[in-house]
Formats: sequence, structure tokens, C-alpha cells
Amino acid sequence: MTFKDLHISTPILKALEIQGYSTPTEIQERSIPILLEGKDLLGCAQTGTGKTAAFSIPIIQQLSSPEKNSKGKRKIKCLIVTPTRELALQIVENIRAYSKFTNLNSTVIFGGVKQKSQTDALRRGIDILVATPGRLLDLIGQGFINLDDIEHFVLDEADQMLDMGFIHDIKKIIAKLPAKRQSLFFSATMSKEIVELSKRILGNPEKITINPEQTTAEKVKQELFFVHKKDKIKLLIDLLKKDNTDTVLVFSRTKHGANKIVKKLDRASIKAEAIHGNKSQNSRQRALKNFKTGRTKVLVATDIAARGIDVDELSHVINYDLPNVAETYVHRIGRTGRAGASGTAFSFCAADERPYLKDIQKLIKQELPVVEEHPYVDDGKAVENENNDNQNRSENNFTRKRSNNSRRNFHRKNKQRTNRQKNQRTN
Ligand code: AMP
Repeated sequence: MTFKDLHISTPILKALEIQGYSTPTEIQERSIPILLEGKDLLGCAQTGTGKTAAFSIPIIQQLSSPEKNSKGKRKIKCLIVTPTRELALQIVENIRAYSKFTNLNSTVIFGGVKQKSQTDALRRGIDILVATPGRLLDLIGQGFINLDDIEHFVLDEADQMLDMGFIHDIKKIIAKLPAKRQSLFFSATMSKEIVELSKRILGNPEKITINPEQTTAEKVKQELFFVHKKDKIKLLIDLLKKDNTDTVLVFSRTKHGANKIVKKLDRASIKAEAIHGNKSQNSRQRALKNFKTGRTKVLVATDIAARGIDVDELSHVINYDLPNVAETYVHRIGRTGRAGASGTAFSFCAADERPYLKDIQKLIKQELPVVEEHPYVDDGKAVENENNDNQNRSENNFTRKRSNNSRRNFHRKNKQRTNRQKNQRTN
């Protein structure tokens, strides 16, 4: 199967050739024909599957057909809403590349930066708008954006939208769209809430499920290190110094943790930068650029900031902390091994992360291979000891709390007794 077989127009074929896309990915092969017919689509797929091209190529083709090219100021005909700024930027970059030989204009808007350059672009007139929900509603409120002419609407990463608390914003946006439109809805997972939301947006959609969970888990080489919490940083430094690690994305559960890792790597002369929600948009973009161009070897990220990061030839993903949601593990390791390439994922598991590991292995239906020969790995006994330490600590806490409580009870009862005696005396 080639893109030509999918009846893609010559200007787009030319652009795809420049991108080096020779064959369509599974999601492209299955969704492009449906979308070119103008039907709605419910896609269960995550980034890394070629989803962006799957939805944007048919939209570009429909919008750039000669009979569509009306005169006068351009009106926004396609709206793509996505949860994070990084993903929004990536989508617009892709769309610009695929529509390079058409006369379509696209732009991106997101919060955390001044709005002037965004409103200037909107004033000039655009066909395709990629947006994060907050800034979109803000600029609609200020009268810079009108959604009356939308013909194609894409809601991307719907599960992430809900996780980030965007549900009300999404409902407000949907209410502003014209009833007659083509709608596309993508989510990596399909919970009850997501299905509910999709029903608000879609008419009678075609459904496509791409199972990256399995393919990602099969494609990426995975290794597990049982390690004491205090030894994680030493293990990380050791792996980064030894293991043919070129471009490495390290996941930390917290923003504070990400900063700490960067500091310690810096002390070990390993160039690293952090990317998370407390960093300004400019510094996030700078960090991403340094990483993409190879100026920094290690990017330490939290899950939300890393969502949608698309770096070619990412050699390793390291789960410094295991995620507490099993699906996140698959999202994370899917950052390496993209579009058919293979990659390696190392995961560190301390004693208190054992339950997360259990959930992950259940989801991917495989046991992660355990690295046993390494100076910093735990032989299991230490993990048990750490468990015991935790247990002892909590038992000690319990005993301490109990003795505090009994001391308090003793004082309370003493006071009650004195009051009673006082009352008896006055009576
Ligand atoms: P996405 O799932 O849209 O984030 O895409 C993941 C990566 O695959 C991006 O780097 C795309 O540029 C790349 N990609 C998308 N479609 C193809 C294709 N047909 N052939 C090769 N690479 C592709």
C-alpha cells in the first residue's frame, strides 16, 4: 500500500516524499479513506502511531480542493484542539509540512506566552487552527476567533484532556461549533467518561482501534532494575555513562524530583535539562530544542510535559520513577521506538513501587526482564529490607501515635475528673 493508492493528491504526495514517508502506517491506511469520504471518526490510538498525518492529510486534501478556494479573507475551516502546548506545536509543524505545496495557512495558539503574534496571525486569516483549550476560549471571548465556518473539528488526546481538567472548556468549545461538520475524536484509552464525551461530539462515527499497547511493548527493549530509592541516582549516572545512551528521556513523577535529578547529573558532568509545568513556555521550548539538536543528552520530564514530545532517534527512555497509572508506562516507553524504529526502556523500581510494577505487567501482559548483574541493583533481599524498613517506620509511627493518643486520653480523663470533683464541691 502506498499513499498514492489512498488517492492522495499530488501536492500532498510531494510533501510526504520530502518527509520521507514511503508507506502509510496502519492508522493512516485505515482512517484516510474514511475521512476522505467526510465521515466522523472515533480513533483509539496514541501518539507515535502516525495519528497526526492520519487526520491532517485528508483534512488538507478536502480543504485544498480547487472548488474550496473562495476569494476574500480566509475563515477558520478546521479546528484541532489538543491538551498541551508541545503537542499543539508539533501538530502545526506537521500540518505545515504536509500542506507545503497547497495554498492553505495554518497557525497555532496556546497559553503561557503573549498573545500578540497569535492574534496577528489570526487577523491575517488562516484555514487551519491548532489550539489548546484555555487560550482558544480566551481569544474567542476577546473576539479574535469565530468558529461559525468550521468544517472539520479534531479533538486530540481526549483522555489527557480529561486528566488535565479541561472537560468544561471542551464542552464550551463544542457548543460554539456549527452542527454541520466533520468530527474526529482521538483518545489512547476509552473509559466510560471518554465514550460519553465522544457522543457529544460525533454523529455516527466509524471506529478504529490501533493497539499500540502491545506493539510498543513488543517493539521496545525493556529492562527492569530493582533498586533502593537512595541508589537510583547512582544507577542513573552509571547507565548514562556506560550504556551507549545517546539521547535519553528520563521520567520523574514530580517537578521537584525532575529538578533534583538535573542538578545531580550536572554535578556528574552530564548535560541535562528539565521540562515540566513550572518552567516557562520559552524555557520548555529551549530545552526541547537543545535536546532535539543533540546539545543536551538528557531531558528529564514529568508525564504531562513529555506528552507528545516527538524526537527522532530517541535512544533510551528511563523510568526513574514508575508511573502510578499503568497506561502511562506504555506512553512513556513509546517515546522511543517511534514509527518503526526500535529503542530501549529502563525502569527503576523501589520497594514502594512494587504495586505499580504489578499493574504495568498485567497491562502489557508480560514480565519485564530483570537486570540482576549491576552494582546498584537490589538482590530482592534489600528490597524486602526496604519494605521492612518502611513497615518498621510505619509501625513505629503507629506506636508513637498510640502512645501520644493514650497520653492525650490520660490528660483528658484527668481534666474531666477534676471538673467533676469541682462541680460536686460547688453543688
Ligand atoms: P504521530 O503519531 O503523529 O506523533 O507520529 C509519530 C512519528 O511518525 C512522527 O515523527 C511522524 O513524523 C512519523 N510518521 C508519521 N507517519 C509516517 C509514515 N507514514 N512514515 C514514516 N514516518 C511517519
